[in-house]
Amino acid sequence: MKDPYATLGVARTASDDEIKKAYRKLARQYHPDRNPGDEQAEERFKDVQAAYDLLSDPEKRKQYDRFGAAGVGGAGTGPFGGFQNVRVENVDLGDLSDLFGGLGGIFGGRGRRGAARPRAERGADLESRVRLSFDDALKGVTVRVPVEAETACHVCGGTGAEPGTRPVTCPQCGGSGVVSDSHGLFALSQPCPRCRGNGVIVEKPCRNCRGTGRERATKRYQVRVPPGAKDGTRIRLKGKGEPGRNGGPDGDLYVVVQVDPSPLYERRGADLVLEVPVTYPEAVLGATVQIPTPDGPVALKVPPGSESGKLLRVKGRGAPKLNGGGKGDLLARVKVTVPQKLTKAEKEALEGYRKVLREQPRERAFS
Ligand SMILES: [Zn+2]
Ligand SMILES: [Zn+2]
Repeated sequence: MKDPYATLGVARTASDDEIKKAYRKLARQYHPDRNPGDEQAEERFKDVQAAYDLLSDPEKRKQYDRFGAAGVGGAGTGPFGGFQNVRVENVDLGDLSDLFGGLGGIFGGRGRRGAARPRAERGADLESRVRLSFDDALKGVTVRVPVEAETACHVCGGTGAEPGTRPVTCPQCGGSGVVSDSHGLFALSQPCPRCRGNGVIVEKPCRNCRGTGRERATKRYQVRVPPGAKDGTRIRLKGKGEPGRNGGPDGDLYVVVQVDPSPLYERRGADLVLEVPVTYPEAVLGATVQIPTPDGPVALKVPPGSESGKLLRVKGRGAPKLNGGGKGDLLARVKVTVPQKLTKAEKEALEGYRKVLREQPRERAFS
């Protein structure tokens, strides 16, 4: 490990000013911009930096004076150990910056502006529910969806400043949004506490939003619900959620469709199930019955011997398919009904059938 005093060419009793002067002289001399491609100069430059880092810190200097390299973490990989661990986020060069054009390239530090700016945040997603009748959901409908969301204050236009006044450049950070905590040559930057990194401050806050620049308001959006929407269908409106912060993108609005049940149909995806009551003779002998569909009545052929629960498919008479064209099917579910009241003629006819069964009994099959 090199002696930092020797590296800077100063006495052990050198004052802070003398150390600084020596450092500046050597830093100029060995700066890589002045010695392109010269690895030795670069090494020297790093040594000078490290030496200055150590000696400009009173605590580190004291440690070094008392314990030598071990006192300042000599086990590190840099020429003075601790050098590698120096948190250089921002380098305040003062009058050196003109000469060197900045040290950022060497230390990988970031530029002065933007280093500690508040992060851009995406606005939150919002959800709004819309309730539709079964028929409207099948046909598709345009609805107005009210959404309570944060928005720019309508009084100050989002600046947060009382109308007639304007936000002014923050005097503490000069508008950069960052302040530097100076340690010798190196400076640690952090968001400005006065303006919270915004670079501007509001002297007279807007009375409507109390300086936040935002307010809650109900907005209404026209939303096209596609034909065939189901209970739970979500429609995304990009960018209609909460506004983003610090330049972040706006969130999305999700419109969730709630569909009232139908007295007739039960939905199975794009298919519709309809219960079709049939009489015993229709079920046994077969029949053609009129049934309703969303697009008007159709004739349904009930084949002979149809049991209760049998599903008969009517192609293309269901609900519109949400993705891709076409429609689902209508599934007619046969329901053999037992009449509770009979006319005289019906009763006579059934008594006749019972007589036939008595004379020629059918096997009763239990299963
Ligand atoms: Zn306001
Ligand atoms: Zn500020």
